[in-house]
Amino acid sequence: MTTTARGTETPTLGHWIDGRPAAGGAGARTAPVHDPATGQVVAHVPLAGTGEVDAAVAAALGAFPAWSQVPLGRRASILFRFRELLVEHTDALAGIISREHGKVLSDARGEVARGLEVVEFAAGIPQLLKGEFSDQASTGVDVYSFRQPLGVVAAITPFNFPVMVPLWMVPVAVATGNTVVLKPSERDPSASLLLADLLRQAGLPDGVLNVVHGDREAVDHLLRHRDVAAVSFVGSTPVARHVHATAVAHGKRVQALGGAKNHAVVLADADLESAADALTAAAFGSAGERCMAVSVALVEDAAADRLVELLAAKARAVRVRPGDHPDADMGPVITRAAKERIEGLIGGAERAGARLVVDGRGHVVDGHEDGFFVGPTVVDGVTADMEIYREEVFGPVIDVVRVTGLEEAVGVINANPYGNGAALFTASGEAARTFQRAVSAGMVGINVAIPVPVAYHSFGGWGDSLFGESHIYGPEGARFYTRGKVVTERWPRTRDAAPPASFHFTG
Ligand code: NAD
Repeated sequence: MTTTARGTETPTLGHWIDGRPAAGGAGARTAPVHDPATGQVVAHVPLAGTGEVDAAVAAALGAFPAWSQVPLGRRASILFRFRELLVEHTDALAGIISREHGKVLSDARGEVARGLEVVEFAAGIPQLLKGEFSDQASTGVDVYSFRQPLGVVAAITPFNFPVMVPLWMVPVAVATGNTVVLKPSERDPSASLLLADLLRQAGLPDGVLNVVHGDREAVDHLLRHRDVAAVSFVGSTPVARHVHATAVAHGKRVQALGGAKNHAVVLADADLESAADALTAAAFGSAGERCMAVSVALVEDAAADRLVELLAAKARAVRVRPGDHPDADMGPVITRAAKERIEGLIGGAERAGARLVVDGRGHVVDGHEDGFFVGPTVVDGVTADMEIYREEVFGPVIDVVRVTGLEEAVGVINANPYGNGAALFTASGEAARTFQRAVSAGMVGINVAIPVPVAYHSFGGWGDSLFGESHIYGPEGARFYTRGKVVTERWPRTRDAAPPASFHFTG
């Protein structure tokens, strides 16, 4: 606990190692955790050094031999129980998310629900681990394959989904028999501790999931750790690139999901009113802090003036309030630095010649003057050379880029280095088919602005939005956390039935 100047106490969080809370090391570094709606410090989080990371990895390594042998049905039943506990604790989790991240409570509940879908998927893991069998591949010889867990897996997650992204990783990793060290974002670290405790209550043995808080120091130690077999990372592109390169150089299997710049194309034949509704929610929901947020509208010239008018009206109607306010549509951004950066990019766009149709800079919420609020912002006349287009803004800003039609729109998207999501609004099936086949993006929406795949498909972008081969959760997640083994088997009944020694390769 730390006592503030106002006499209130802010807790200091701990790690979660070997099934119980663990205090940060004596004299360890800490970081403040803010309530973005008030700007106040609500907790301090310990930043692990190598000692705490070693303790978490040792706990995971110690738990692996027993956990990897736990029968599939038992693993599934723990996940079923965990699912029930998540449902029971949805409001508690949503409250924690909203307080430390700032997003509105309904959105925070939605985040828990999307994570829960992955738990449900993981509870069906026996189906995915069944393997294959070839009877009589040669005379008296059968061949079969199955998959085995990797060992200790590191899961490193971003601030923007403090429950959902850990749940993209942990349920699939443990269902497939691995043990995990989760390093959540230090900006909103509390939800991961409740997740760990709920998994304990569900019956997960000690050490199977460990949570270690920290920053680059903890991450870099995990990436190089001898006893870590694989790394799942979600975060910004520069860090994803670093994580991928470092962990691969240290012999680990890696999936590193990075940032994004998601485009939505609006053709003139689309229902503009509903396209504008979808784009408003996709650009300003969660204050634009979603890796699948739509940040660029590529609008066919003939529809552009009308769409901009609709977007502007809808942006002005967004109710910006603290996340726990019953009427809030959108909360603050994560930090003061993020607010200043986003406002700087908006200012830069104006100086570069773009038109600020709705300008969210300097947005003040009564009674929350120190909160990190940025209002919804619509920028028209954006071109691909402007900084606001090139950078991932990660705030409530939508750029409008006017195009002559679908071909030009696809050209713009495919020239962008990111490739997470791309959407098309149209009434034409032909245009939709052309778009979904031509566009360079891992996830495509047709009249759907945020095409996050359901849990039984896998999530992943192309280009600078993903480093490594494997998408996350779903069938690709299960493959990522396991390695295949093929057994070639013969059972001769007598010595005479065994083939004589052969010195040529029989392949
Ligand atoms: P971030 O890259 O700053 O941090 C992610 C994680 O990496 C955190 O746990 C953090 O502690 C750690 N980290 C930060 N800097 C590091 C460094 N230099 N070396 C090693 N580790 C470091 O990302 P963020 O700001 O927390 O999250 C927002 C970003 O995540 C956005 O770019 C967003 O698009 C991206 N994101 C991507 C997806 C996806 O599925 N592709 C999903 C969610 C978020």
